[in-house]
Amino acid sequence: MTKYQLSVHELEGATVYMADAGDRDVLVCEGKNYFGGEDGVNTFELTHEVANKLRELFPFTAPKPVLGYERSIGLGDRLGIAGPGHIRVIKKYDIMPVFAQQSIRELDLTGRTYEDVLDSATFAVFRENFTRGFGADGDHLKKAEDIEYALSLGFSMLTLDLSEHIHGDASGVYSQNVDDLYLGKVFEVEGHKIHFTEEEFRRVLGVYGEALDFALELYERFLKGGKYNCDVEISIDETDTPTKPSEHYFVASELKRRGMKVATIAPRFIGEFQKGIDYIGDPAKFDEEMQVHAAIARHFGHKVSVHSGSDKLSVFPSVGKRTNQKYHVKTAGTNWLEAMRIVAMRAPGMYREIHAFALANFDEARKYYHVTTDINAIPDISKLTDAELPALFDDNNARQLIHITYGLILQARDKSGADRFKTRLYKFWREHSEEYAQALDRHIGKHLEMLGCPKA
Ligand code: ZN
Repeated sequence: MTKYQLSVHELEGATVYMADAGDRDVLVCEGKNYFGGEDGVNTFELTHEVANKLRELFPFTAPKPVLGYERSIGLGDRLGIAGPGHIRVIKKYDIMPVFAQQSIRELDLTGRTYEDVLDSATFAVFRENFTRGFGADGDHLKKAEDIEYALSLGFSMLTLDLSEHIHGDASGVYSQNVDDLYLGKVFEVEGHKIHFTEEEFRRVLGVYGEALDFALELYERFLKGGKYNCDVEISIDETDTPTKPSEHYFVASELKRRGMKVATIAPRFIGEFQKGIDYIGDPAKFDEEMQVHAAIARHFGHKVSVHSGSDKLSVFPSVGKRTNQKYHVKTAGTNWLEAMRIVAMRAPGMYREIHAFALANFDEARKYYHVTTDINAIPDISKLTDAELPALFDDNNARQLIHITYGLILQARDKSGADRFKTRLYKFWREHSEEYAQALDRHIGKHLEMLGCPKA
């Protein structure tokens, strides 16, 4: 067993640390036994109970609200192994991380639980001695029961996804009569004028009214009065059309008027924010709209949240600048893609198998994600040499193929019912953990550089 040097922590009468036990990490407590049992040297598996105890003994390993900080970044870790790499890069920058971040869709697709997602982050920060603090985001929550689940575990951020109550055809009904508050008025936000014609206002009410009522209902039920120490984000990004600045204004204004405090709002920005590839659209147009969205956020006192932020490098300078370095950005898929890039580099045989599986199952995966992938444009890998495989991760179509099939790959089973790739993949990643940490350091570092994030 090799001790992780950074993980050595002293308690009264005991030393606690993590160690590499070959095929897995373990926790060791020497001396007074804080984790149950007799005093002496005791080794523990990394269970949820051990994680709970660790969070109690070492508060820096428990999540806390981080959105109040000027800059924050969500680093979704679908595999539960990205922590050390993420910590390596975050240590260098002046930003607060959200290391635990998954949506219910991602939990379903990976077959994981929120316990596991949170515990992976806890063990990583303990192992690497990252004491700055981190957040845990119950991402894209749509149901009361899911909110309760995340809160019961101590998640420090809830992303309320209102998409099921946003009606693009303006057929929703709003409980409030607010005509007098908006009609015939011009709102000035840092020189930008926002006003509604009667027709436009009816449409906005029909699109967002029900969603606002739903948000307020959840807020009153779970969060009002500070029952949980938890940040709230409102997500209106999963819609068919971009959020107009006037819509962002209306939503923020109504939330505020009705007494709901939100830390961040995630609009859907103009252009396309597809998974795991750079921005599609006109960056100048994006910049123009980002300026207004950022001004509205400042006006109401929340931050803009940028979802699907993986690899959106060409618009990050605009995000950093227009928000005056106050933003939340979420990434997730790119961390998985970096893990798979290493598979393509170091285990070409296994990569070829997975690639073929992904192609065969692409249509199934497409049900869960909006992408415009042209799978016919992906190079035929039977014609590629092993050395050419990693370059697939610079090809947008190939990236999206692997990006959206992660759940099917991880949960694939062979005829006997044993998993097809998962065990082999995790074993591989454990053997290449240093390389993965370096890749994340580099890749997330690029994101932070383009955002203009200052160094720590
Ligand atoms: Zn989103």
